[in-house]
Amino acid sequence: MRDIIQLLPDAVANQIAAGEVVQRPASVVKELLENSIDAGATEIKLIVKDAGKTLIQVIDNGKGMTETDARMAFERHATSKIRKAEDLFKITSMGFRGEALASIAAVAQVECKTKREEDDLGTELKFEGTANVTQGYCQTPQGTIIAVKNLFFNIPARRNFLKSDQVELKHIIDEFERVAIAHSDLEFSLTHNQNIVFHLPAGNLRKRISGIFGAKYNERLVPVDEQTDIVKVSGFVIKPEHARKTRGEQFFFVNNRFIRNNYLHHAISEAYKELLMPDQHPGYFLFMEIDPARIDVNIHPTKTEIKFDDEKSIYAIIRSSVKHALGQFNVTPAIDFERENAISVAPLKKGEPIRFPSITVNPDFNPFDASPRTEKRTSHHDWGQKQQKVQSQNWEALFTPQETPEEQQLELEPNWNDTDAHEAEHIMQVAQTYLLKATRTGMLLIHQQRAHHRILYERFLKNIENQSAASQQLLFPQQISITAGELQLIESYLDDLRQIGFDIERLGKTNLVIQGIPLALQEGESLQALEEILENLKHDSASFSLNKSHQLALVLARHGAVKAGKPLSVEEMIHLAGQLFTCQVPQYDPIGRPTLITITNEEISKKFN
Ligand code: ADP
Ligand code: MG
Repeated sequence: MRDIIQLLPDAVANQIAAGEVVQRPASVVKELLENSIDAGATEIKLIVKDAGKTLIQVIDNGKGMTETDARMAFERHATSKIRKAEDLFKITSMGFRGEALASIAAVAQVECKTKREEDDLGTELKFEGTANVTQGYCQTPQGTIIAVKNLFFNIPARRNFLKSDQVELKHIIDEFERVAIAHSDLEFSLTHNQNIVFHLPAGNLRKRISGIFGAKYNERLVPVDEQTDIVKVSGFVIKPEHARKTRGEQFFFVNNRFIRNNYLHHAISEAYKELLMPDQHPGYFLFMEIDPARIDVNIHPTKTEIKFDDEKSIYAIIRSSVKHALGQFNVTPAIDFERENAISVAPLKKGEPIRFPSITVNPDFNPFDASPRTEKRTSHHDWGQKQQKVQSQNWEALFTPQETPEEQQLELEPNWNDTDAHEAEHIMQVAQTYLLKATRTGMLLIHQQRAHHRILYERFLKNIENQSAASQQLLFPQQISITAGELQLIESYLDDLRQIGFDIERLGKTNLVIQGIPLALQEGESLQALEEILENLKHDSASFSLNKSHQLALVLARHGAVKAGKPLSVEEMIHLAGQLFTCQVPQYDPIGRPTLITITNEEISKKFN
């Protein structure tokens, strides 16, 4: 009988192993970054093109490799990190299986340049699906540069299986963030298609979190610090009032390795119990230090899952340390969070009452009301209370702060104010689009949508110029995902957007979280407006930036404006008309179309001839 068992050729074995280790560009990123950390690098640069599909390059200043080691590094089961089976039980390095580089080289075109400090010349290697190896000497700085090109070039099925650039980049950023958070003492950068997505100088954990997620995080963090016999727990949890509806920042590290563990996640959720709404998720950056012998990191090829030998105790410790931290924070909110010499920010606290614009307003203004008023101005505080009352009357869309007409010298033809008080009831809506009003000299037709567009436009413009806007906090922050490139565009507008009432912040590099929106706008409108602003920026950022206050106000006003065809109540009509005549240019909407027409008594009488 013929023997049928054969050893698989190396190339095939490597491709099979690669299937486990290299699922997508982000897997390569993780392995390369971890190798650089293991090599003692203090500065690690990640350069990515087309979400890693074309290029993933990691440049480090670590200890480098000898010529032989460089060649060996790409062999399967070649590792400098363990020598015997027992070593598996005391692993402190990131990698250890010696599979990553071999797997990557099996499914991509790989170039490696590496040099140790003590060597004059570096080594250069090129692989193509493990097969074509060229090896030579090169000039290169101390450290290692590995470039992984055209991932899965030799496995079209896998390559086709990759998701859109946006999705793959998101995965890359996730991996990058995990590694960067775990190693806040090292300098990292990430460049995608020539855009610098992150540049994170070496610092402490607090700075690293702020560097990645935005300066606001600085004041959202509650320190956790607990030392027990079996485990040390440290890091930060996020204050309950900043919890998200989407599972956002949930980072668990065991011995500086990012892991997923639902059981421990549950322990944290338990600690937050009663502090969060049912659909909110806790945010945390928690580090556990534990004797490597008490865990098994070898149960999963990408090493993101681990087993603890005493899971129950760990659960209890995690839950109580988080509870303890939150408790301290609740009891003494003034606790010194600055212990790590934190950077300073001027935060807009969530949950803070709505900021009202600092202009004086008179919500009772009625252009038809001829009776003398005893109290012409109200403070903005009073206005806030009035506003709540008014909102219950279901016409908040049109109800917005305005200047008292007494403050405006109106020289308008026709003069809205020359109508009689008792004529107030006689305003009516025609075709659910025009407001019809008799005046002494004839009648007036106002285009409701254009009029409101004008009103909101002037208000937003003023807000931008005065840097004062009313913002309303969203009950459920909205997340929109954008590309890193779009983020770069919008970044230069974030301040302007804040000035008109958007409370926006970055979440990583492909997401924006909208916490607050302009008071004058409804939620759906605000988000649409924001998307339109993004679109405009993308397609014509040059002209947009030429006149950005105008452009921003224009887009927001258009989205906020009441539409033609919408039935309005008498109060709404009166209010709209009253506001229009406090505008600087009431006759035209912001793009120059008439907002109103007048028909004189003579014209009417001519019609009857
Ligand atoms: P592992 O990390 O599990 O050991 P890898 O295939 O990722 O396996 O790497 C193989 C070996 O190559 C490592 O053990 C290390 O000695 C060497 N190596 C990999 N990357 C680097 C680097 N950036 N700098 C120095 N040595 C490296
Ligand atoms: Mg490795």
